This record gives sequence, C-alpha cells and structure tokens, in this order.
Amino acid sequence: MTALLVTNIGELVTWDDDRPILNDAAFVVDGGKIAWFGQRNEAPSADAVRDVGGAAVIPGFVDSHTHLVFAGDRSAEFEARMTGQPYEAGGIRTTVAATRAATDEHLAANVARHLAEMRAQGTTTVEIKSGYGLTTHDEARSLAIAQQFTQETTFLGAHVVPAETEIAAYVELVTGEMLERCAPYARWIDVFCEDGAFGADESRAVLEAGIAAGLLPRIHANQLGLGPGVRLAAELGAPADHCTFLSDADIAAVVESGIVIGLLPGVEFSTRQPYPDARKLLDAGVTVSLATDCNPGSSYTSSMPFCIAVAVRDMNMSPREALWSATKGGAASLRIDDVGHLGVGAKADFAVLNAPSYVHLAYRPGVPLVVG
Ligand SMILES: [Zn+2]
Repeated sequence: MTALLVTNIGELVTWDDDRPILNDAAFVVDGGKIAWFGQRNEAPSADAVRDVGGAAVIPGFVDSHTHLVFAGDRSAEFEARMTGQPYEAGGIRTTVAATRAATDEHLAANVARHLAEMRAQGTTTVEIKSGYGLTTHDEARSLAIAQQFTQETTFLGAHVVPAETEIAAYVELVTGEMLERCAPYARWIDVFCEDGAFGADESRAVLEAGIAAGLLPRIHANQLGLGPGVRLAAELGAPADHCTFLSDADIAAVVESGIVIGLLPGVEFSTRQPYPDARKLLDAGVTVSLATDCNPGSSYTSSMPFCIAVAVRDMNMSPREALWSATKGGAASLRIDDVGHLGVGAKADFAVLNAPSYVHLAYRPGVPLVVG
C-alpha cells in the first residue's frame, strides 16, 4: 500500500475532539484512510507527497438528503413562481410522469451527471431517495439505479399520493407489495408528512412497516407549517429533515430524543419560504445537518457550498457551525462515523479549497472554491 502525505495545508479541518482545526498542517493517507494528521514539521515520511500550497483542506461534504433519480425539468414552474404568477404545473406529479417515461439508462445517466456536479463542489457522500416512481415497478427500479451509486438509498414511495388514487389504498400498497420489492435496495425508509401528502397516522404506518422490514426511518417533516411530523420522528428516533416550522414544544421533543434535524436552505431559497432559525436549534443543543435536497422542483442545487452560504447568511449559523453541519452533521444524520471528518481512521474523503480558510465558503458565495 502506498502512503500519501498531503502537506503545506494552511488550515486543516479535522473535527477531531482535541484538534478540530489546525494551521500549517499535514496528513497521511494509507489504504484510503487517514493514518496520521498533525503539524507539517512533524509529518512522517511517505511514498508520495502532495503540496497544496497553503490551501485550506476540509472533510468532503456529506449530502444527507437528495432526490436524484428523476427525469424532466421544471424551470417553467420555477420561473412562474419567481415572477409571482400562480402556477398550475402539477408539481411532483410532473416529475413522476417524466420519470416513469424515462429508460433506466436515461435515469442512471441523470444521476451520474448530478453526482459529477456534486463531486466537483466537494461532496463525497450522497444519500439518494426514490419517490418519483410511485408504482411498485418504478420505485424498485429507481432504488436499483440509486444503489449503483451509493449505499445510502432511501425508499420514499410515500412522497405524494399518485393522481386518482385513494390515500388508504396507496398506504396499503406502500407498506405492502411496494415495500417488499423495494426493501432489498434501500437502507432507509422516508415519508413526506405534511398537509396534502401524508398525515400522522399514515406516516407512522409507513415508517413502522419499513422498520419491520429492516429499514431505518427518516422523515420529511414540518416543511410547510407546524405539524405532527417532527414529534413522530422524535418518538421513533428518526432524523427529521426540513423542520422549517417548529414550536417550542417540538424543539423540546427534539432535544429530549436527541434526533438529528436536517435543514435544507436551498428549499427556502427556491420557494421564497421563510428560513428556519438554526440558531434556536443550535442554542438548544440540537445536532443539525445541512443538505441540498437536490430535486427538480423545490431545490435544484447540487452545491453544498451554496447551502453553507445561505445557512450562514439567512439561518443564523456561524461559518464553522455550517461547515460542521454539512460534513459531520450529515454523517450523524446518516449514522455513519467514518466520513464527515478527517480524524485517524476516517475515510480519506477531503476537499482542497482555493482559499486560505473554510470561512471563504460563506464569505465568497457562488465562487467555485473546491479544487479537488
Ligand atoms: Zn426531500
């Protein structure tokens, strides 16, 4: 095995307990893992050396919430929304129709294209949901495609109720035949718990069926208003994403349960919804993750640096908190401990920035700072 020394790092973010951020640092990669890190002048020798010329190096981003298996484009719907016109496009169902009509090859190529965008912007771990198939066949093939690209696959048959279908019959399908076909391709099960999608009882039925089938629960909760989603998540110990609207009682339940709250600033940006107050969650001691929610309807960004910039500017996070949430926070949401940090034993998933400090991720919004 060849060891690589990465050195002349102006600022190294490791999130190690004792030395979370070091200046004038170096680290050694051996067998794809971090074997050593510390001050540059104390570095051991290695077979190969990469001098990054004083750049900042951060853990690769962990994007814990994406919907990459889709076809089609909803730019007209976005334009209508941004020009204040009421839009009549069918929202998620527009994407469902395009996804059902697409070939497996087309869907896989679309995932690959978006993952390439993500990698170029520093993302090294990605969760991918189904949810634009909404038939047993189309959900199963969506997950089979997602599984070609990541281990973090999520069955989201309960995204919306398909047109001309009764909710009770659809929940029966999602928790029965569809779950049985999809579970082999998924690690997680998810539900969109919201008025107009799935209520508390239906969401509980979906998640409990998934748990019984060996999947881990997570949830889309409290995106469009106050609701039961986040308290259901707290009860089940499930990470809860969106959480734009939380009452004080909701936050108390989150603190009590210790669940991870996933904030998705691209959604509020792209829908002109109010931003959640991350400060309130952080001050209460909640573990917060940041993710893109990359999808063609409500947040069509693949950029974690963009999400960090918005979280700092509009959700009252410090640059350091936002970077932690986009890396180690994402890993906490996905319950994996060897990514999202650069401590000894972690995967050598890192990003070199064309900047002296990680602070530039928020300080220079929209600038492509990740160089590799
Ligand atoms: Zn989502």
